[in-house]
Amino acid sequence: MTSNASPARALTAARTLAKRADALARAAIARAAELTRGGAGIDEHQVLCERLALIATEARAATALVEYAERLASSGRGDALSEDEALAYAAEVVHKIVGIAQAHPDDFAGAPEIDDAARALVREGLDDARLRAIGERVIAVRGVNNVELDDDDATSTRTFTRQFAKSEVLKEEDGIALADRIHRDDMLVPDSLIRQFAELGFFGSSIPDTYGGTEMGYLTMVALTEELSAASLIAGSLLTRSEILTRALLEGGTDRQKQAWLPRLAAGEIMVGVSVTEPDVGSDVASVQCRATPGEHVGRKGWLINGAKAWCTFAGRANVLALLARTDPDASKGYAGLSLFIVPKGPFPGHQFEYRQPEGGLLTGEAIHTPGYRGMHSYILNFEDYFVLAENLVGEEQGQGRGFYLTLGGFAIGRLQTGGRALGVAQAALEKACAYVTQRTQFGRAIAEYQLTQYKVGVMATRIAAARQLTYSVARETQPGARAPLGPAMAKLFASDIAVYVTQEAQLLHGGWGYAEEDRITRYVADAQVLPIFEGVKATLELKVIARALVAPGSRG
Ligand SMILES: Cc1cc2nc3c(=O)[nH]c(=O)nc-3n(C[C@H](O)[C@H](O)[C@H](O)COP(=O)(O)OP(=O)(O)OC[C@H]3O[C@@H](n4cnc5c(N)ncnc54)[C@H](O)[C@@H]3O)c2cc1C
Repeated sequence: MTSNASPARALTAARTLAKRADALARAAIARAAELTRGGAGIDEHQVLCERLALIATEARAATALVEYAERLASSGRGDALSEDEALAYAAEVVHKIVGIAQAHPDDFAGAPEIDDAARALVREGLDDARLRAIGERVIAVRGVNNVELDDDDATSTRTFTRQFAKSEVLKEEDGIALADRIHRDDMLVPDSLIRQFAELGFFGSSIPDTYGGTEMGYLTMVALTEELSAASLIAGSLLTRSEILTRALLEGGTDRQKQAWLPRLAAGEIMVGVSVTEPDVGSDVASVQCRATPGEHVGRKGWLINGAKAWCTFAGRANVLALLARTDPDASKGYAGLSLFIVPKGPFPGHQFEYRQPEGGLLTGEAIHTPGYRGMHSYILNFEDYFVLAENLVGEEQGQGRGFYLTLGGFAIGRLQTGGRALGVAQAALEKACAYVTQRTQFGRAIAEYQLTQYKVGVMATRIAAARQLTYSVARETQPGARAPLGPAMAKLFASDIAVYVTQEAQLLHGGWGYAEEDRITRYVADAQVLPIFEGVKATLELKVIARALVAPGSRG
């Protein structure tokens, strides 16, 4: 069977395989729940739990992609591309899980057998000719993303943002686009772009209109982020910090704090840095050492911040830092001793800054040089007796000890947005590769005409399609204010891995020219590398968020 299979047949086969993948994933989850005693023993089964997180995520992505192709078909808009992608990806996932089950049969005790009929469908889905045909179609349209969003707001936002990103984020000056100049010169994103974002209401994308926001729903937010990130990861990332503080305030802020901060966040009047990580504290957030002790300044009660923070992105330009600090000196309290502060500071444009407060405190920052994710700079910070008013502790008295919980709530939606960021970077690399292979000739033919090129583009496009539909399905089902970490974590994990894979494949298709710094593909490669690291490094996301949510009683998510 080749890609000429009838669409209805391809969809039926894709659905059958997606169900198999789901059944295998469920069996693996049930077994892992048993082995880990409902999650209590995850650390005794870390390798198994990592595999479980990946299997469950990819099975869910396969289902989302099949559902998308089915929706299109049932509304009379079905197309061979989405159906072939759905079948190819479902086959890839079943093939992978079956291979894992063969190597680790005990992890799949009780799983349904894969019969000959299912094996035949896997062969059909993974047929080289099918992947090549996908690649040929994708190259013919230069990889452009026109998937149906089935949502008018999201569709019009995508159209508008794509045009905006092209004309403003990629605006050329002296022959070089702004996004490329920011990367190559390690510049800070210009205030003119921030002002444009503010005027367009981008910063208020998930702030309710009662606080001056443009709350647009998560699907629209993801579409917006995806388009900005396709032009520049930094453009797509400008919104994330405000998003994290917004969530924390909506969840745990006092009415006064919401009134004071949310309208200013929505208006893009204040820029935010999120400061959780420390030089010696990364994934183990419960060990945060930066401390806040009660203090007073001219009769006003507050807190004195002392300690070091690391990797605080945008901390120079930011007017406020959302900072997690220990308010309970008893370190044995772990998470429960942490509180979240809104720390005002002056904005600084450079790679280094020193800010002496009128109250006497000192904050210094020094940017860490990075190969990508340039444009906001990520800083090491040092606080010395830095005074913050009591009213700036999120939740005030009630918020003491809730900082970890509020920060994680913010990160859950931040991760969904990062699914969008990763999709944008992967999409940009795919389009760049499609354009290049069409122009580049070797051995007398455009390299797009070679089977291997078509196959590689077919795999890249199929995996992006799966990551996109997973992220969109999570965005559709996530309700504002919901505490459902699993879906956003899966979207972030999977889309980030796909972005790393696709950017590297796209670079290889450029040969040596893809290693020249003036070629934009190098920016995509460098930017993609950070996606599996921040907002929970990959291993932590897999073990502490995804596997935990899957195996804890009653939470399949
Ligand atoms: C460019 C960039 C920007 C960033 N921006 C911000 C920001 O704005 N604000 C902020 O607060 N932070 C930020 N970060 C920090 C980021 O969130 C952390 O790097 C991340 O959380 C991981 O922490 P870590 O680097 O200390 O790694 P670690 O926690 O030390 O983990 C390193 C590795 O150790 C292993 N490991 C750790 N724990 C376990 C375990 N329990 N079991 C098994 N293996 C384990 C894993 O392999 C893991 O990949 C940024 C980072 C980068 C690179």
